[in-house]
Amino acid sequence: MTLMKGTMLYEGKAKKIFETVDPDRVIQYFKDDATAFNAQKKGTIVEKGIVNNKVSERLFRLLEEGGVPTHFVERLNDREMLTKKVRIVPIEVVVRNIIAGSLAKRLGLKEGEAIAPPIVEFYYKNDALGDPLITEEHIRLLNLADPGMVGQIKDLALKINRLLTPFFQERTMILVDFKLEFGRHKGSLILADEISPDTCRFWDQKTKESMDKDRFRKDLGKIEEAYQEVLKRVCG
Ligand code: UDP
Repeated sequence: MTLMKGTMLYEGKAKKIFETVDPDRVIQYFKDDATAFNAQKKGTIVEKGIVNNKVSERLFRLLEEGGVPTHFVERLNDREMLTKKVRIVPIEVVVRNIIAGSLAKRLGLKEGEAIAPPIVEFYYKNDALGDPLITEEHIRLLNLADPGMVGQIKDLALKINRLLTPFFQERTMILVDFKLEFGRHKGSLILADEISPDTCRFWDQKTKESMDKDRFRKDLGKIEEAYQEVLKRVCG
């Protein structure tokens, strides 16, 4: 049935997408390949794909229970997830609770300061341009989504943040920031892609140590250990 993997539709930096016999379902295969700085830095994080698949499953289930529509259907095995086939909106949506990463750099702000209320940013999903920060006017100019959909994306992103923040807090992690991608599915907007240590910043509540891809970006060591620890706290 739908579990038969068909032709590969797309290969990204961290995932492959395969057709199934059901035109409305695709398989997301999670790789161990890691990239950073617009793919200038490349490497492997052993068993990252397994961690990201399982963590994403747990978080998609949590969000569905909280009323957020997602593309998640079921996890098939260690590295594969069955999802609804969507047309990805080419916008990376970032939600920030704490100053870190490109925000600290761009605005000269100190890492670690709380942002209240949280902020939402949009980036144009375009590798050739290096995923530039864009405004709602740029989204309209580029015809990426209409203003109604942008409003919907922002509301959903903040709702997702309200659902995820206490979930991680209970697991002694601080959700610093994260990136979301949305897709169009049968006329509605649903959450797609993944939510994992590749796409979020998590800090240990006590030590404030990074438990995410920043360990790879900044060569902090103990990368695999950090991913396994996230899996344990989220799914254990
Ligand atoms: N992020 C992502 N994919 C990207 C860029 C960012 O998943 O292509 C995530 C990143 O892991 C972090 C958040 O989005 O959790 C904000 O990233 P930031 O803008 O600070 O960029 P970075 O410092 O990662 O370049």
